[in-house]
Amino acid sequence: MARKVIIAGNWKMNKTASEGAALVEELKIKVAGITDADIVVCPPFTSLCAVLKAAEGSNIKVGAQNIHWAESGAFTGEISAEMLKATGVEYVIIGHSERRQYFGETDETVNKRLKATLAAGLKPIVCIGEMLEDREGGKTEAVMDKQLKGGFEGISAADMKGMIVAYEPVWAIGTGKTATAEMAEDTHAYIRKVLADMFDADTAEAVRIQYGGSMKGSNSAELVGQADIDGGLIGGASLKADDFAELIKNAIG
Ligand code: PEP
Repeated sequence: MARKVIIAGNWKMNKTASEGAALVEELKIKVAGITDADIVVCPPFTSLCAVLKAAEGSNIKVGAQNIHWAESGAFTGEISAEMLKATGVEYVIIGHSERRQYFGETDETVNKRLKATLAAGLKPIVCIGEMLEDREGGKTEAVMDKQLKGGFEGISAADMKGMIVAYEPVWAIGTGKTATAEMAEDTHAYIRKVLADMFDADTAEAVRIQYGGSMKGSNSAELVGQADIDGGLIGGASLKADDFAELIKNAIG
């Protein structure tokens, strides 16, 4: 099955609203006319409106970096699905490893955020990935099993078909250490196998699985060239228009 490449930039806690808008103004010229990949940028909440305005009429889509599952109420510092939807964003990153490591995110809260995202008609990018000690201890597959089963509990096959999963080995995020293309492909293929067991083969074939972890212009072609790697979730290399545009162009060849 031909799955459309999707490259998303996770800006994390970087860029003010005006800096974000300026980045998108530059990027949209560099990626104009690209139709072979879905291109997404995910700025901090405070920049969403400015970035959406800058991206208007271009092929750049916008996503948020988190979402809360409650509709409204006493959840200081949180943002609901309805609030996000009203801004005009299309995508939401859920369960990034930094949220899991520093903010107590669990598979259970990932699952709640995912359900709120789907109910609002937003498109989730669900992050999974093992720590270095898991990889070295031969536990990568067990971690994938647990995160996939917990994160996607109670999700329908129909919703799964539009799902985006980002496989991000935690040891490769922001470290300059990239999983080799072969290593990444092995884990992507395993993820697809688990999804086929949880749902069915057709559903697993439809899910787009991004790789994330020090992807850049010099390695995006090899990584995205693998059979089960359908794009990337990009941190550092998404913060400069030149770097991000080069990475995207190389990824789609
Ligand atoms: C990320 O944080 O999702 C990520 C992949 O970061 P980097 O590209 O900087 O490793």
